[in-house]
Amino acid sequence: MPESPAVTAPSPDLFAEVVFDRPLRRSYHYRVPERLRASLPPGARVRVSFGRQADATGYCVGLVDKVDLPPARIKDVLEVLDAEPLLSPLLLKLTEQVAAHYGCSWGQALQAALPRGVRAPGRGRTLRVVELARPPETLQAWIREHRGGRRDKQTRVLRVLLEEVQGDVTPFELSSMCGVSRSVLGTLAREGFIRFAERSAAADPLAGPPGPVENPLRPNEEQQKALGEILERVRSGEFTVFLVQGVTGSGKTEIYLQAIDEVVRAGRQAIVLVPEISLTPQTVQRFRARFSRLAVLHSRQTESQRRDQWLAIRKAEASVVIGARSAVFAPVPRLGLIVVDEEHENSFKQENVPRYHARDVAVLRARIENAVVLLGSATPSLESYHNWRTGKYRRVVLRSRVEDRPLPEVEILDMNVELAGAKYWNFLSRRLRHLMDEALGRQEQVLLFLNRRGFSTHAKCPRCGHVLTCGQCSAAMTYYERRHLAVCLHCRKEIEPPDLCPACLVGKMRYLGIGTEKVEEESRKLFPGHRVARMDSDTMRGHDAYERVFGEFREGRIRVLVGTQMISKGLDLPNVTVVGVVSADTSRDLPDFRAFERTFQLVAQVAGRAGRGNKPGRVVVQTFAPEHYSIVLAARHDFETFAEREMRERETAGYPPFTRAMRLVFSGLRENEVEAAGEEAARRLQEVAPAGVRLLGPAPCFLPMLRLHHRWQVLALAPEVGMIRYLVRCLEPFVQATRRVDVTLDVDPFSVF
Ligand code: ADP
Ligand code: ZN
Repeated sequence: MPESPAVTAPSPDLFAEVVFDRPLRRSYHYRVPERLRASLPPGARVRVSFGRQADATGYCVGLVDKVDLPPARIKDVLEVLDAEPLLSPLLLKLTEQVAAHYGCSWGQALQAALPRGVRAPGRGRTLRVVELARPPETLQAWIREHRGGRRDKQTRVLRVLLEEVQGDVTPFELSSMCGVSRSVLGTLAREGFIRFAERSAAADPLAGPPGPVENPLRPNEEQQKALGEILERVRSGEFTVFLVQGVTGSGKTEIYLQAIDEVVRAGRQAIVLVPEISLTPQTVQRFRARFSRLAVLHSRQTESQRRDQWLAIRKAEASVVIGARSAVFAPVPRLGLIVVDEEHENSFKQENVPRYHARDVAVLRARIENAVVLLGSATPSLESYHNWRTGKYRRVVLRSRVEDRPLPEVEILDMNVELAGAKYWNFLSRRLRHLMDEALGRQEQVLLFLNRRGFSTHAKCPRCGHVLTCGQCSAAMTYYERRHLAVCLHCRKEIEPPDLCPACLVGKMRYLGIGTEKVEEESRKLFPGHRVARMDSDTMRGHDAYERVFGEFREGRIRVLVGTQMISKGLDLPNVTVVGVVSADTSRDLPDFRAFERTFQLVAQVAGRAGRGNKPGRVVVQTFAPEHYSIVLAARHDFETFAEREMRERETAGYPPFTRAMRLVFSGLRENEVEAAGEEAARRLQEVAPAGVRLLGPAPCFLPMLRLHHRWQVLALAPEVGMIRYLVRCLEPFVQATRRVDVTLDVDPFSVF
């Protein structure tokens, strides 16, 4: 047979499956031209034209040699943007599962897995900061003239810059502090009020050289037993989730450290997830003292610092990664172990798309990569507790503190009795004041905890009963005394606090309810001569505020520290002998099925702060419900009894962890449209819902109005997670097609009101 000269068989086609960071649930196919064949691995980004956009960036998630489309309709990949894939096949698989579970697109899940500095390298070596461009007096005068008017947002930005910012502030930080969009800053800059400047970035506050190397401690009997079970699974490399349940100070961290050590010796890597507020130099140092090849990922890094860490992790230059929520996606090549410390913490749940829970993603990832997960807590979430009881997780328990140090004695203080008996009512009870007085006299330190910010939590007219509310949100305004402002904590709107009732114009407004600012001021009045400081999201602004205040407290210069949950973590200080919970009632009254669980966690965690050294600690819990089981059992550090009791209530009511939840929130400017969307969604769910699914709503949210948007919600409770995934899929076309009303879909929501 004559050979056909110089004709090579056409090489088979190759197509890239591409997803985008948009709420589109499907993937799109592009032809890979000859010249790019050798250089396009799945997990790399590509430049393609998409819809009307000639130049879009997508992620290549797979390669196939056949597609069901007419060849003319298939466009070419224009360029491959990464020489090496950004994500390994295993992480691609993980993000695909995350997307399916949380009802977002694969592209959105990928975006969450990659730090911005990795996606858009080149920028971010310096820190962009905002500066004032005119003298303060000029600006003050301008603020006075324009406050409350058309340029209210601009005045707010200037006021915050003048009065609140300490040190450098980035445009992003400033706009979120003020609750305004970036364009407001742009306007101010154009008009010459502010300017943007580049600073060379400060060193990463959590980087630091390794300190002196510490040796492992000799495990005590309980730790030994727990480690035995854990190490067996670590060695066999079999996917297992352990609930590590142990009171504060029982030595959980030592267990993590020794389990990690085993993983590292076997040439694999470990990831440690901690809540953002626990990610302090002290915490990091404990890990660095054992593992010098440590990488840290946190939100205060510049983009390039984060990128450098990320690249080091991918090259296996780091054997241990510590970070907050998003570190669950850290690209370690051979994962052996994930630790989730304080696994009950709600900061592991991301509150925007993708609304993932890092603890649950850790479990998904470990299953894919045959790794072990340690979920540690003194007050485990009932979800994890339930998973242990049903045999999905294993459990190890540490019942006592290391070296038999006593747990602090907790006194429950009945504020009803206090109110009836005190001549001059004070929200700090006589007993608490007495203990504070004694402790301060002995040069010891005090923590006062309250989960409410501001000076007064609301203002009310004694004559007509009108409560001062934000005009844009259905919420009472919080009063700040030092700044003399009434602020909506939801949209950050600020107004001059009125003396007279704006409704009846006769009554004199009364400022009621206690926030941390008032506790701080009262402590100063009661204990002059002792330094008092406050730690909450109002005072902890700027890059190093936390480290500064924490440092002064540790050195003993600050004697009384007042704060929100920010102080319930990481402050393990031997000289703190009195801890006061100013009100244990703040979360118990919320219309949420987790309200009692949160109360228990809060009280037990705060109580665990006392007596970490050799001096015994005292805890006073002030409450108007002294008999409530969430408080009584927290005071006894009795998680087990609380959990059993609370589980019975949840089972009867059909709430998680006995069911899985999905929450839909509809929001828009017109209430009828919002309500109609809610009704339509409920109707569609009704049609497809398998037996056993319970639908609640549509009903207005607990906060029916937010930033002038009406809000309604529908809640679905299903006996199995598969049903939730099915409902999410069924709703997809509806969510895509809804106009003028925003629909947010939240699977395993943290809050349901
Ligand atoms: P947790 O993480 O449960 O709150 P930690 O691991 O922080 O507890 O331990 C509390 C304290 O006890 C720490 O100062 C730690 O160094 C110390 N510690 C832990 N295990 C041991 C041990 N086996 N022997 C001596 N001290 C220990
Ligand atoms: Zn508001």
